[in-house]
Amino acid sequence: MTTVDLPLLPLGRGADLNSERGVECPGDLPAASDPDLVARALAAKEALGDKVFVLGHHYQRDEVIQFADVTGDSFKLARDAAARPEAEFIVFCGVHFMAESADILTGPDQQVILPDLAAGCSMADMARLTQVEMAWEAMTAAGIADSVVPVTYMNSSADIKAFCGRNGGVVCTSSNAEVALEWAFEQKADVEGGAKVLFLPDQHLGRNTAVLKMGLTLDDCVVWDPHRPHGGLTAEQLRDAKMILWKGHCSVHGRFAPEVVDSLRAEIPGINILVHPECRHEVVLKADLVGSTEFIIKTIEAAPAGSAWAIGTELNLVQRLANAHPDKRIVFLDKTVCYCSTMNRIDLPHFVWAMESLAAGTVVNRIEVDPDTERWALVALERMLALPGKTEKD
Ligand code: SF4
Repeated sequence: MTTVDLPLLPLGRGADLNSERGVECPGDLPAASDPDLVARALAAKEALGDKVFVLGHHYQRDEVIQFADVTGDSFKLARDAAARPEAEFIVFCGVHFMAESADILTGPDQQVILPDLAAGCSMADMARLTQVEMAWEAMTAAGIADSVVPVTYMNSSADIKAFCGRNGGVVCTSSNAEVALEWAFEQKADVEGGAKVLFLPDQHLGRNTAVLKMGLTLDDCVVWDPHRPHGGLTAEQLRDAKMILWKGHCSVHGRFAPEVVDSLRAEIPGINILVHPECRHEVVLKADLVGSTEFIIKTIEAAPAGSAWAIGTELNLVQRLANAHPDKRIVFLDKTVCYCSTMNRIDLPHFVWAMESLAAGTVVNRIEVDPDTERWALVALERMLALPGKTEKD
């Protein structure tokens, strides 16, 4: 089930499901050293034929992405799966919230498989339903809930999307966050004092969009900290704010620092800084270009030979772009190596284990959202799909 109100813990294999939820691999997990893993994955895929459709997120390892039928960001992949109703099994090489979204958008006869259930997302885990409901109660007590529209980033659990669906809100991606915010502010434009947005769970995407795209100021934004009494805010601060940002962030994109931008500019004259809007505001302010993973890929594809780029997004994608474009100088915008640890949970042994299990008739690691959560999450997703303009990428 997906509505357990506790984070998935990336702790490896273990039998104690209270402390290491979902990391069991019934049956034999192949050894990483097995030289036949690639051949075994190919054989299982061939045996399953059209019954299986393999999705690979841009941040996945090369060893896994080579088996993907389609690559992309989370929303594109979920829609690709929905467009393949003949595929009984959707093997999602990505993280938990992505598999949930795929389950919500695919048909009832399709089963979504996550090869390692410990592939969670630290950002999604920073907004738990009980925490968000407590914040909503505090906003009700402060007399502002009627003017607040909740907006959640795609990178959130299904129950947070459902919360937004139930409360007149919407889901957004990193490419349509501006359109989603415009829509949200319009929903309560007539309320005395004006509309407010509760933005979940990534404070950086919320702040960057509000300030750099919507013309709001930093003073219009407050941060709700779920680990402090009353979110660390007074009722007056809540009443004065236009954007109530949830205190969540991506542990990968939050690492990029403005000092590294400065040192790279000094080191490589003419270098272009290209970052994802999940980066901190002070990093985005120093960048030349800001956009989603699809935007980053297209920008590099269109860049002239000989140009130099420092990219602030997940390292698997940056390395793949560097390998694909040897005529351009592409470097990572961080001094240390930093992959998304949960994305990297999906490795070749887990992929082979999941595929061979399916080929043998055993469905493993199915991600299934309960009907009520699915219904309301779909409401919020469909509101996003009805937004004008871009909704195809994040
Ligand atoms: S890169 Fe960040 S947002 Fe994406 S799965 Fe990893 S922790 Fe979550």
